[in-house]
Amino acid sequence: MQLNYIANASVRSSSGKTLPVIDPSDGQPFDEIQRSNAQDIDQAVQAAHDCLNTVWHKVTAAERGRLLMALSRKIAEHADELAAIEQRDCGKPTKQAKADAAALVRYFEFYAGACDKLHGETLPYLDGYSVMTWREPHGVTGHIIPWNYPMQIFGRSVGGALAAGNVCVVKPAEDACLSLIRVAQLAAEVGFPAGAINIVTGYGHEVGDALARHRGIHHISFTGSPTVGTLIQQVAAERHCPVTLELGGKSPQIVFSDADLEQAIPALVNAIVQNAGQTCSAGSRLLIDQQIYEPLLERLGQAFEKLRVGPATLDLDVGPLIRQTQQQRVWDFLSDAQVAGIPMVAQGQIVDEAPDTGFYQAPTLLRDVPVKHRLAQEEVFGPVLCAMSFRDEDHAVELANATQFGLVAGIWTRDGGRQFRMAKRVQSGQVFINNYGAGGGVELPFGGVKSSGYGREKGFEALYGFTTLKTVAIRHG
Ligand code: NAD
Repeated sequence: MQLNYIANASVRSSSGKTLPVIDPSDGQPFDEIQRSNAQDIDQAVQAAHDCLNTVWHKVTAAERGRLLMALSRKIAEHADELAAIEQRDCGKPTKQAKADAAALVRYFEFYAGACDKLHGETLPYLDGYSVMTWREPHGVTGHIIPWNYPMQIFGRSVGGALAAGNVCVVKPAEDACLSLIRVAQLAAEVGFPAGAINIVTGYGHEVGDALARHRGIHHISFTGSPTVGTLIQQVAAERHCPVTLELGGKSPQIVFSDADLEQAIPALVNAIVQNAGQTCSAGSRLLIDQQIYEPLLERLGQAFEKLRVGPATLDLDVGPLIRQTQQQRVWDFLSDAQVAGIPMVAQGQIVDEAPDTGFYQAPTLLRDVPVKHRLAQEEVFGPVLCAMSFRDEDHAVELANATQFGLVAGIWTRDGGRQFRMAKRVQSGQVFINNYGAGGGVELPFGGVKSSGYGREKGFEALYGFTTLKTVAIRHG
């Protein structure tokens, strides 16, 4: 049984209740986590405050950097163990689970190096004055994390917050907690003081809500759905608590007729099947120049038919979805497509070894999806790619911007002028030209516009969000 991790100790929830941990590859329970409550959040927030006030505020930036680097190295030593934990918990193919562990190593490495490079400025002012700005941590930061990339999102969010001098209370998703509990234990082993990183598991509407409402939390980093993002914002607004929202997406991949298709095709496929399409920055809408619509769809169809789906440990192209309700959600979208007469170009194959009780979905390529249909507007969060054609640049921009989201965009063209014009006109937080990083790159600021959220995590930019600026004016004559 897994326990909460508070003040460097494993503790049971005061509720005395637990939740089962389900393996998505076979749908069977294999462990339990604590179903925590507001009292557990109180305990974690108190531990974080004690840490901040007694120890952490005296730790120098350089020493914080050493601690983060020690954790990065420790995670690297335990990368296979962590990848195996995440694999079973989330149903990730081995390649993906290992890539996520490697990203976690890199996040702590990056933020280790950043700790002592964050500084304020001196400002010109009146004669006889000196004015400076200090970048100060918020204090105790709350981190609400989704199930699709627990290690990566913990790395970018908690790594940045600690680097900036905060201490953290973390609420992982109820479907995927195990790796983060282990990382917190490793942090204690390398010397993080008790209360610097606290993990409290349970349901979002219980323990997540309690965390977001807690007056001892000074900043909230939320990654998850737009619906819950709205709730977090409302709750945080009551006490004017700053929030970073990393929400969903319906990211367009825009392919012009002069694109290098050899390069584009594998990237277009990967952008929607990576993590079984359960990626906020999945390239889920495919906008194709009408001149190459038919030939590109034909080639993509061939690629989709080769995709194999199965249990995580078989390490195929695609693993299971996280849970049965997610599988049902994807089925509902696909049955809506059928009702609307949206043609299917191709589907991958679920292998015979996949147990019937697992949560599998074959990657599916749909064409001629009407721009206003919910398949072209809403996040499916599964391996479903929706293609449509465009006439010219203006039409491509119109389609690209025709959703409530704006997280990532991919642009495929050899025309340099068009690359810049498109990058400027597409509404999104990141633009990839002739590549698709799916939010990748520890160094690259990441976040959305419109309903994809606001604030930036990743890169050095994140540190500005995890700090507040104090202006100090001295009159010295
Ligand atoms: P979700 O919003 O249901 O849950 C996210 C987290 O919020 C979980 O830890 C959950 O327990 C918690 N939560 C749920 N209800 C809550 C409440 N009332 N108060 C406080 N916390 C609550 O999202 P999900 O289904 O876990 O993840 C999928 C969504 O996350 C998708 O929309 C996806 O695009 C988005 N996402 C975004 C990014 C990004 O960086 N932009 C990254 C990953 C996932």
